[in-house]
Amino acid sequence: MSITAQATSERTAELRGALVEIRTRVQHAAGSSVERPPTLVAVSKYKPASDVLACFDAGQREFGENYVQELVDKAQELPADIRWHFIGTLQSNKAKTLASIPNLYAVQTVTSVKAASALNKALPDLRTEPLHVLLQVNTSGEDAKSGLPPLAPGGPRDAELVQLARHVVVECPRLHLQGLMTIGALTESLASAEKPNEDFDRLGQTRDVLQAMLAEEGFAPEEGRWGEGGKLLLSMGMSSDFEAALRAGSDIVRVGTGIFGSRPKKEEVKAA
Ligand SMILES: *Cc1c(COP(=O)(O)O)cnc(C)c1O
Repeated sequence: MSITAQATSERTAELRGALVEIRTRVQHAAGSSVERPPTLVAVSKYKPASDVLACFDAGQREFGENYVQELVDKAQELPADIRWHFIGTLQSNKAKTLASIPNLYAVQTVTSVKAASALNKALPDLRTEPLHVLLQVNTSGEDAKSGLPPLAPGGPRDAELVQLARHVVVECPRLHLQGLMTIGALTESLASAEKPNEDFDRLGQTRDVLQAMLAEEGFAPEEGRWGEGGKLLLSMGMSSDFEAALRAGSDIVRVGTGIFGSRPKKEEVKAA
């Protein structure tokens, strides 16, 4: 384990301030009606390990990354009690590398039977806890976004998403089907951020339909193969729309820019 450089005191203060602000906004938007407080995943892609450590020292434990190698490198040098969430596009051939990270907590972007099986197979025997997986749903139907189509009431039982959920529950004993994840069409402006987001409602509906199907087929939540407290969790909401997502019932929000500031573009990182 290498020694992580310390963030400057100025950067540490900046990150602490941003974390406090986002946590406060999360609490307000979630309101008092929710049984469990939402999980805030700090998305640290492209940001240095020193930034992650500064947030860790401020009490943050859940971090999200999009790229397998970047996650492997950070996980090696950062504290072992971080809960890492993989939120990038998952290629089956990277499943083994991903699964080798001891404190990988969740993979939020599973979209195929092949990827689920690869993860299940690659998890080391030493691992005592199952790996949480969330199935990614393309609620906005945009070509540029990955994910399986959402479900509607009365829809077919052999929809791809239902088949994948069944596969994880029945065939992947080292995985735990924790919930569903979506990106959705982004509501950029403040005015539109106040409007209900149809994609978030669509993920909620998909969850309700899927849960009912699993239960009808005899996969009881009490057996611990899926959900938390009998419910599949929803991961939705990013910096620009996490408040709308929480009002629509999100359990997990993924905030990058709002905590760490703006990121270089992918092309700029590659060129550097
Ligand atoms: C980058 C990323 C985020 C964080 O986005 P921000 O807009 O910076 O908050 C959340 N979810 C996914 C899937 C991402 O790729």
